[in-house]
Formats: sequence, C-alpha cells, structure tokens
Amino acid sequence: MLPGTKIRYLLALATFSMVWTVPASALEYVTLQRDGKDIHVAGRLLVEAEDGGLLLLACDGVLWAIQPKELIEQTSDRVPFEPFSTEEMSKRLLAELPDRFDVYRTAHCLIFYDTSRAYAQWCGSLFERLHMAFTNYWNRRGFELIEPEFPLVAVVFARRDSYLKFSHGELGEAGKSIVGYFSLRTNRMTMYDLTGIESLSRFHGRRGTAVQINQILSRPEAAMQVATIVHEATHQIAFNCGLHTRYSDCPVWFSEGIAVFFETPDLRSAKGWRGIGNVNRPRLVRFKRYLRTRPHDSLETLIRDDSRFRDPKQALDAYAEAWALTYFLIRHRTGQYIEYLKMLSTKKPLTTDGPQTRLEQFRCVFGKLQPLDAEFLRYMRKI
Ligand SMILES: [Zn+2]
Repeated sequence: MLPGTKIRYLLALATFSMVWTVPASALEYVTLQRDGKDIHVAGRLLVEAEDGGLLLLACDGVLWAIQPKELIEQTSDRVPFEPFSTEEMSKRLLAELPDRFDVYRTAHCLIFYDTSRAYAQWCGSLFERLHMAFTNYWNRRGFELIEPEFPLVAVVFARRDSYLKFSHGELGEAGKSIVGYFSLRTNRMTMYDLTGIESLSRFHGRRGTAVQINQILSRPEAAMQVATIVHEATHQIAFNCGLHTRYSDCPVWFSEGIAVFFETPDLRSAKGWRGIGNVNRPRLVRFKRYLRTRPHDSLETLIRDDSRFRDPKQALDAYAEAWALTYFLIRHRTGQYIEYLKMLSTKKPLTTDGPQTRLEQFRCVFGKLQPLDAEFLRYMRKI
C-alpha cells in the first residue's frame, strides 16, 4: 500500500468526526451525487456519522465514504447483505474494463488481464502460494485467519502505459514510480506484466510459458519489482483475512512492517513458500545506514503516528525501521506481538486514535519504550 493511498484515506477520516459503527447486516441502498453524476450503491452500512456521512461496503467489496452533501437518498430493506458471487463479480468487472480483458480464476483470486493467459496464471499461482503461506504462518502462531469475504481481485495490464492511464485517477503521477498497488478503497490490486519491462524482456523476449515467466522474474534484476507485487498482495490478504480492517486506524508501521516482512519472494517452489521471515537484505542495509544518525526517540516517532511514512525524505528509513521492528518483535517477543495484533485487528473503521493512545496501547503490551529500544538495537546489531 502506498503512502499516497493512505493519505487519501486519512483525509477522508478527518471529515468524519463523531462516528459509530452500525451493527446492521441488511442491505442499504444509497443514491449519491459525485462529479456531477448520480451514483446508486447497494451494500452493508458500516458507519453512520453524526453529521449524516456514511461508510458503505458495496457488494463488490468497494468502500464508499459518502459525505452528507453528496447524499441524495438512503433506504434499506430486510434482504441480508451478500457479496457478489465470483460469476457476478467477473461479469461486472469485465463490463468496467476495456473489451480486450479476460478473467482467470483461482480458489481465492480473480485475475483480470489483457496480457497472456500464462502471465495471469503465474500471478494466480503466486498469490495462492502466498495466501497459503500467510495463513499457515499466523495460524501456527495462534492467530486464526478468516476466509476472505470477497474474491481477491487483481487487474493486470499487458502494457505499462495502459496501467498508468487506468491508475491515474487513484494515484496521479505516483503511479509512474511503482509497478503495482493495492487500493484500500476498491480492495483491488492493479499492476502490469513485469515480463514486459525492457531491462528484463531483452534477455528472453516478452511472452512465454509459465516456466519462461518464472525464469525472467527469478533474475536478480526483477527482484525489486516482484517484491513490490508480493508486498501489495500481502496487504490485500492481510486486509481480507482478518489481520487488519480497511479504513481502521491500524498504525502504518504495523501494516507496512508485515508487508515488508513477507515481501521477500520465493519463486523457486511451485507449491510452498519457504523463507518467510528471512532477513530482508535491502531493508536491513537501509536500517543499518539509518542507525548512524538514528534519533534517540526514533521508536516513539515510529509508533505514535504515521508522519514519517508520509514524508518522502523519511519514508524509506521508516519502512526499514518498520521491517526491523517487526522482525525483532515477531522473532523475539512472539506472544506479545500476537496479543498486540489481536488488539489492532478489532479496530473499527473511521475511528482514529491519537498519538497518546497509540503509545499507551503499545506500552501496555510491550512495556516501557526505552528498555525495549535498547534490546531491539542490541538484537539488530548482531544480524
Ligand atoms: Zn505497503
């Protein structure tokens, strides 16, 4: 998940001052006006704000944060909320996408693509292996993941320029610097065919069989790009399997720390996913460099708010520290980490904790910051 995506959702949060979560599971029908158009949405009402603003979860998994001034009509009935079936979801998304798109299904994913079917299959296989490894990893540590309510949707473009055009509304110019992203709002991943990247395709040609795709993407030149895709897929799985709640105030160091912890891809095995929790070399190198100038209150600033992740000058160091802290806590303070994870997983959407609450919640589980910080640095210096 990009810092930019997060900022947009935080801006949306700022306008929802007094909110409460609605326990209803009935279907809500809302008509709103946005960008001069009337839009009809049906879904589960998650939040109703004191000023009349709404947060609606549509049957396709998209979250609609509706401002009072946008709202035209709101009704409900007793029909229980049900997500779209994979058939319905496929039909609707194909209608939204350009004609050339097709869909490839796996047990948990719907991959919409206009590139080769082999590449869609490669993505599907990667995401299924990651899903299985992720689920096993947390289950073994005492946190039971849930089955996703919605299919995990990925939209894969053959060409980078088509991807940039498509993602411009959501990312703006930021799309140019990344190969794919997960959107909290739509619940979808969007990316392009990495085998088309010039520096990679010149070795093998563009299209290929699954074996050739794996050969191209196992090259060291592709490692960063593949890690980005795994990172984004980890966010999608974490937000859909009960680890975090979309639009809740989960600290960024925590959600990013998990994505960075899992991002080291394992392309060697066709079925399993070895090496979860191995040292993430590029992040470790960055963290060690950061240590030379690391301020004494670095742990506190990382935990108390998300500002370091939003500042382009500090973001890479913040990601490196989030990885290091996650690595240390998961390996060295496993029970406490799971306790903290369980607490964060129950957070409701659009409810914001202040910096003091965040610090208190952290201290309540892990104890005082200063001794923890000393232990953390001792542990990381040995690696
Ligand atoms: Zn991320």
